[in-house]
Amino acid sequence: MKALVMRGPGQFEIEEVPVPECKENEVLVRIKSVAICGSDPVLLAGGSMDDGLPGSLPHIAGHEGAGIIEKVGEKVRGFQVEDAVAVESHLGCGYCDNCQAGHYNLCMNFGKVKAGHKQYGFTVPGCYAEYCVYRPEVLHKIPENLTCDHGALTDTVATAFHAIQQAGVVAGGWTVIVGCGPVGMAMLMLCRAMGSRTIVLETGERLKKAKEFGADFAYDFLDTKALQKVMEATSFVGADRCFDCAGNPASMELALHSCRRGGTVGLVAIPKNQRMEIDLKTIVWDEKKLVGSRGNPNCHKQVLEMMSSGAIEAEKMISHHFPLDRFKEALELFTSRADGVVKVIITV
Ligand SMILES: [Zn+2]
Ligand SMILES: [Zn+2]
Repeated sequence: MKALVMRGPGQFEIEEVPVPECKENEVLVRIKSVAICGSDPVLLAGGSMDDGLPGSLPHIAGHEGAGIIEKVGEKVRGFQVEDAVAVESHLGCGYCDNCQAGHYNLCMNFGKVKAGHKQYGFTVPGCYAEYCVYRPEVLHKIPENLTCDHGALTDTVATAFHAIQQAGVVAGGWTVIVGCGPVGMAMLMLCRAMGSRTIVLETGERLKKAKEFGADFAYDFLDTKALQKVMEATSFVGADRCFDCAGNPASMELALHSCRRGGTVGLVAIPKNQRMEIDLKTIVWDEKKLVGSRGNPNCHKQVLEMMSSGAIEAEKMISHHFPLDRFKEALELFTSRADGVVKVIITV
């Protein structure tokens, strides 16, 4: 089969490799669509080596995938050949305290393949390939009225949805979204669907996109009056919920100060710097809550249902399609942020 094989930092090519073996507790999926994630260029450049990712080399990346079931292991129940499925990246070990509580994104055995933990596309092979094997726990059937492209977008939308589950959203209230890349845009669609008014802080092309996607207000975050505009829009109260989808000191500052007294700030983007200065006094005096959000556990089913019912039109996020053979070109476009790019789908 054809696969994108990473052999070292920045070294990756389409190669011919054997189709992976499907064990009795696994499912072989014929991959159809894979969305490029913001973490892919970092991983492929070797930027996650300090975090132990990829787990080994050579590696096949790709985690936002969907496809058609080709083969079902003898011990697997609930899936059949020809089922269309969206895949999840995280598979917990299943027995640690966190997995038992359903928080498998926080598995105590993260990265320990021998203990049963897997993160597809990171610690074990992923889906920039014609076939990939999965444990059935990470597969979700795609509703009849949706496509594999929707399946591939599920991961991004679910990442935004998990952050909303962590921080909450206030129907009839205000949500500020700082940074409107793919996750920010998914956040915008979800907050609107869940009844919150929205203010997006972005700049350039993506600021225009936020307006197209129905933000009540969209302000340029480079404008020194951006915070003042948020306060004016919210009758000088601030937003009930703020989400930092950019992960830099300026975006964090804006999210924290756009938040009303007693409100909650959700941190979605992986911060560019491990340490940064933040205003702790406002957290104490104004009783603001800061909550982190990692991955998207237990979200895929609900997200697929929201897409199926039309509550969110995730397909509008797709700006480009490329075949697997042209992966490098697709990645280049994605990282350059040129040509109004939002989500790029690799068609396998
Ligand atoms: Zn991703
Ligand atoms: Zn675990």
